[in-house]
Amino acid sequence: MLCILQPPTPRGIIKSMKIRENVPISELTTMRLGGPARFVIEVEKIEDIPKAYAFAKEKNLPVFILGGGANTIGHDEGFGGVLIKNAMKGIAIKDNFITAFGGEIWDDVVAFACERNLTGIEALSKIPGSAGAAPVQNIGAYGQDVSDTFVSAEVYDTEDGKFKTLNKSDMGFSYRKSILNTSEKGRYFVISITLKLKPGAMSRPFYNSIERYIASTGATDFSPQGIRKIVSEIRGDKLPDPKEHASSGSFFKNVYLDEAGAKAAEEKGYPVYHGHDGLKVNSGWLIEKAGFSGELIHGMRVNPKAALVLINESAKNYSDLAAARTEITDAVFNKFGYKLEQEPVEII
Ligand SMILES: Cc1cc2nc3c(=O)[nH]c(=O)nc-3n(C[C@H](O)[C@H](O)[C@H](O)COP(=O)(O)OP(=O)(O)OC[C@H]3O[C@@H](n4cnc5c(N)ncnc54)[C@H](O)[C@@H]3O)c2cc1C
Repeated sequence: MLCILQPPTPRGIIKSMKIRENVPISELTTMRLGGPARFVIEVEKIEDIPKAYAFAKEKNLPVFILGGGANTIGHDEGFGGVLIKNAMKGIAIKDNFITAFGGEIWDDVVAFACERNLTGIEALSKIPGSAGAAPVQNIGAYGQDVSDTFVSAEVYDTEDGKFKTLNKSDMGFSYRKSILNTSEKGRYFVISITLKLKPGAMSRPFYNSIERYIASTGATDFSPQGIRKIVSEIRGDKLPDPKEHASSGSFFKNVYLDEAGAKAAEEKGYPVYHGHDGLKVNSGWLIEKAGFSGELIHGMRVNPKAALVLINESAKNYSDLAAARTEITDAVFNKFGYKLEQEPVEII
């Protein structure tokens, strides 16, 4: 159910609205592709949100909400509209409820929780991007999804220009989905999010790769800080650091199957993972078995350590990425009959 916003009051730095013109999207996104955005507005206080939308309306331009650009890809022709970024920062805590402004770096929110020995988001350590984007695709990793602890988001509703609260039951969360990237895509500007954590630690068994790490290293600290350290090390070994390598992380979603599909996959010898969120075949495995692991295709390197991650090594244009995507998805479909879905969104 929707109700009217009581604006949150986390600590925060409040400055005035910044408007920039013709900013290359390649500089705003971690895949580092894309031509200029006509306008970029960074909102640093709540009252500037309606003003930013009014600016776009007055010029009759479309709006795209941008966070850290870690799951967003630009096109060569750029974007002839207004990119609005949430630049409001601040994290507050009360009774194990953490409220973070959407412009806060997501990993700083995780660190904040772990430092206070609160469990619930430690496995989501080091996911690049902003707190405001976290519920959009219901970020998840190593057995946790943000929906597990999500309580509410304070939003600006661009349909009626009102500030509202979206509760967890409004969000339609599932694997990499919420209403914010499906039925209500682009409608709500997330101002802040509130999560409910609890003192203590995750219970075992942990996600496979965490258990494997523990078995090989003898790690014994499973506190939020301990799991944060383990996850950071696993990710550091396997995933590209967006500061060094251009990428959007997982380029393809995993393939989720129903019972019959999973049975058929198991009969063919495909590894089906029985996760807390359903039955899936890892796209990385499919891409690897289709022969792409470590390959450079149209300037995109298929990450040898996690093949569902594409690294932009030398692609100059969106068309290079599109050609690599087609080659990989066609090969996987021809070999396994699964249609891979792209995870990052595109600014169009
Ligand atoms: C190396 C790497 C590893 C990654 N690992 C993971 C992982 O383990 N798990 C995972 O789930 N993801 C992962 N990702 C993807 C990415 O980190 C997440 O999707 C993250 O939430 C993106 O945040 P962002 O602020 O950069 O969002 P952006 O890319 O800027 O935006 C993503 C979407 O959210 C919308 N959006 C952004 N801010 C707001 C807002 N304030 N209000 C409303 N809509 C908004 C945008 O319109 C867009 O549709 C990874 C990415 C990289 C580069």
